[in-house]
Amino acid sequence: MADPKGFLTTGKQLAERRPVDVRLRDWNEVYVERSLLPIITKQAGRCMDCGIPFCHNGCPLGNLIPEWNDLAYRDDWTGAIERLHATNNFPEFTGRLCPAPCESACVLGINQDAVTIKNVEVTIIDKAWDRGGVTPQVPERLSGKTVAVVGSGPAGLAVAQQLTRAGHTVVVYERADRVGGLLRYGIPEFKMEKRHINRRIEQMRAEGTRFRTGVHVGEDITGQQLRERFDAVVVAAGATTARDLPVPGRELKGVHQAMEYLPLANKVQEGDFVESPISAKGKHVVVIGGGDTGADCVGTAHRQGAASVTQLEIMPRPSEERPGHQPWPTMPMTYKVTSAHEEGGERIYSVNTTRFAGDEEGNVQELHLVEVEFKDGRFEPVPGTERAIPAQLVTLAMGFTGTDVRNGLVEQLGVDLDARGNIGRDGRFATNVDGVYVCGDAGRGQSLIVWAIAEGRSAAAAVDTYLGGKTPLPAPIRPTDRPLVV
Ligand SMILES: Cc1cc2nc3c(=O)[nH]c(=O)nc-3n(C[C@H](O)[C@H](O)[C@H](O)COP(=O)(O)OP(=O)(O)OC[C@H]3O[C@@H](n4cnc5c(N)ncnc54)[C@H](O)[C@@H]3O)c2cc1C
Ligand code: SF4
Repeated sequence: MADPKGFLTTGKQLAERRPVDVRLRDWNEVYVERSLLPIITKQAGRCMDCGIPFCHNGCPLGNLIPEWNDLAYRDDWTGAIERLHATNNFPEFTGRLCPAPCESACVLGINQDAVTIKNVEVTIIDKAWDRGGVTPQVPERLSGKTVAVVGSGPAGLAVAQQLTRAGHTVVVYERADRVGGLLRYGIPEFKMEKRHINRRIEQMRAEGTRFRTGVHVGEDITGQQLRERFDAVVVAAGATTARDLPVPGRELKGVHQAMEYLPLANKVQEGDFVESPISAKGKHVVVIGGGDTGADCVGTAHRQGAASVTQLEIMPRPSEERPGHQPWPTMPMTYKVTSAHEEGGERIYSVNTTRFAGDEEGNVQELHLVEVEFKDGRFEPVPGTERAIPAQLVTLAMGFTGTDVRNGLVEQLGVDLDARGNIGRDGRFATNVDGVYVCGDAGRGQSLIVWAIAEGRSAAAAVDTYLGGKTPLPAPIRPTDRPLVV
């Protein structure tokens, strides 16, 4: 156990965020670099080393949280990273971006502030990189088997790293010009600087994983060719079909899907453009959708110099306290102030968009909305509440409806889709086609990075068994496992 009295003597302290007026002038991560170092051992010492650590169940990866809390408290950073890497290939991604369902399940959180698990996690991995403790793990012998992975998001990277280390020759195909999936082109730089992906890719290359970027499987190479050339194929192509808003005026210039807007801002940070072709500069911006993708649009618009930013949400404002019907250890739906919301803008709840209006050149100028009430299983407009707000750039962040079937890959491989538009799989991540597996959002639907990594690890175990009859690789989850979220 870390500090037997830590939870009694030490209060919760989080990583410090930079002042808003300073961080809005750049795109760097919002946290004060190394603000955790002086406090983190005491924070880790708040862990009670519970007999039944519910945080293990809260974390889809089954991270060994009390073990590395104890090691961090004792200043044993070598031991801590060894235990952390035992279950998580990329703690620098989850330590920065995970909504931390583990913390919702922390036993201390029943009547006090939960342990700051995510902050301890990111400190362990950042220290490991700083100390040169993250080195390539080259397999001792090669199996002679080959695997193609389609997609280089967290699921594709996890499955590729596990299978490479197991001795297989793995090639990752990515249609984008850079590796990383939504980590690279969805999530903004201020949430995670892309240097964290780059150094992980260097490690993977040194271990033997091969990356082929700018190759759209289904167009540049067919699914059939992959099956002929490789012993197994893993589809980790994400779920990027975005939900649309078919209201009058949708066709106006300036109304974009969030995933048309965010990647361009990320490309500016990569040095591809000086200014984004879709910029919020000087514009009244409306973001439709109150989730994390919407928050990313809010933070991006502020940094681009928007005149105003308004975020709309059809659901009512969640309560700040854990609601009674979402008890511990579930992950409750509560009102959250993300770093992007701290930076300004207005959030309007319980409203629906009725139409967009534009000028003579076809540019959007206004968004018309109406307040709604949830009655008899549907949202009903409240009469007399219609109004217009200025909108010169609108981003749609209303979720995703399944895997991108337009790219030909699904048809060419002959894999079946499930009822939700994702690629169907059995209890071992296998599709209906022999030797073709699926993991991450492509099979689960749009989810979280931690689930993508857990799926990648588990699918790797299934593929290793398929190729060699048995496997030493861990399989933390089954495809049917669901988060403890109400
Ligand atoms: C804007 C945004 C912000 C988010 N923020 C968070 C967050 O803060 N925390 C969190 O936990 N989750 C977040 N998520 C969700 C998270 O990013 C995803 O759940 C996760 O990235 C899924 O990983 P994946 O590997 O399955 O798919 P993806 O990351 O979507 O990667 C799939 C990759 O496959 C490639 N691909 C697709 N088809 C082909 C093809 N035919 N040929 C070659 N390549 C192909 C794509 O280009 C892409 O690079 C966010 C999502 C979005 C959209
Ligand atoms: S990956 Fe997420 S759920 Fe797991 S320990 Fe880290 S923050 Fe918690």
